Amino acid sequence: MLSGGQSLMPAMNLRLISPELIVDIGELAELGGIAVSGGLIRIGALTRHVELARSAEIAAHAPLLTEAIAHVAHPAIRNRGTLGGSLAHADPASELPACMLALNATVIIRGQAGERRIAAQDFFTGIYETALSPEELLVAVELPVARKNSAHYFHEFARRHGDYAILGLATQAIVEGDTFADLRLAFFAVGDRPVLAKAATRLVGVAITPALLSDVCGALGEELDPHDDQQASAAMRRHLAKVLLVRCAAALLDRPDLDAGGSA
Ligand SMILES: Cc1cc2nc3c(=O)[nH]c(=O)nc-3n(C[C@H](O)[C@H](O)[C@H](O)COP(=O)(O)OP(=O)(O)OC[C@H]3O[C@@H](n4cnc5c(N)ncnc54)[C@H](O)[C@@H]3O)c2cc1C
Repeated sequence: MLSGGQSLMPAMNLRLISPELIVDIGELAELGGIAVSGGLIRIGALTRHVELARSAEIAAHAPLLTEAIAHVAHPAIRNRGTLGGSLAHADPASELPACMLALNATVIIRGQAGERRIAAQDFFTGIYETALSPEELLVAVELPVARKNSAHYFHEFARRHGDYAILGLATQAIVEGDTFADLRLAFFAVGDRPVLAKAATRLVGVAITPALLSDVCGALGEELDPHDDQQASAAMRRHLAKVLLVRCAAALLDRPDLDAGGSA
């Protein structure tokens, strides 16, 4: 399948893959468009990164995506690359798959047997692997619109702006006063797929103290199973994940004191 070609073509150039047949879906108008209705945003698979970046609907209802997309590659690639391509390609260091977990997205898939819907956290099954079968097309994603009291946090460590992340965190939260009513922490570049941290649930509905954050950082370190590569060791990635967890909580609650110790 060829949508934006920004991952498929490099892989073919490098002879990593040699497909016998390529179907160009780039002109299928029904796979495009961003629509808001009934508390949901539907984003067509062929929506290009640049369209996400410039969309007023996305900025209003899913501002995490507006912030994250600026970190995806460079303008020339964002002009061609698509949301569906990024999700189907499933690079574990990609920003958009993690955003889909943080935003509790539903992935809509169509094949000869009809349409099926799958939660984003079940869609990514391994490095460059998803729940899509070869006969299926990712047609759209649906996200709940950001609620009152929604807040988001995005940060990635990368050698240069636009490079794939060494480690990153995309977060969507509901903040009520001094506490989290909901907290979805999605880490990327921490293993073979984006990870929705279970440890985050311990920060919901309770007063956040440095001691609690430190405990939760410990639990996060045990939960994550990051990899070593030429960019960073697994131990460095664990450390960076804890740093981001603390910074994220401090930023979302507007509590600089939580990060005063230089984090984790
Ligand atoms: C130099 C460079 C730097 C980059 N940096 C980043 C980065 O920092 N972060 C990041 O996230 N990405 C990065 N990318 C990748 C970029 O975001 C791609 O555009 C994206 O991953 C793939 O989208 P695409 O539309 O180009 O897909 P394509 O390359 O056309 O397709 C990719 C794969 O997805 C499948 N596919 C595409 N659309 C569908 C569909 N609708 N249904 C089912 N299968 C489909 C194809 O069969 C193919 O296997 C970079 C790319 C380059 C070349």
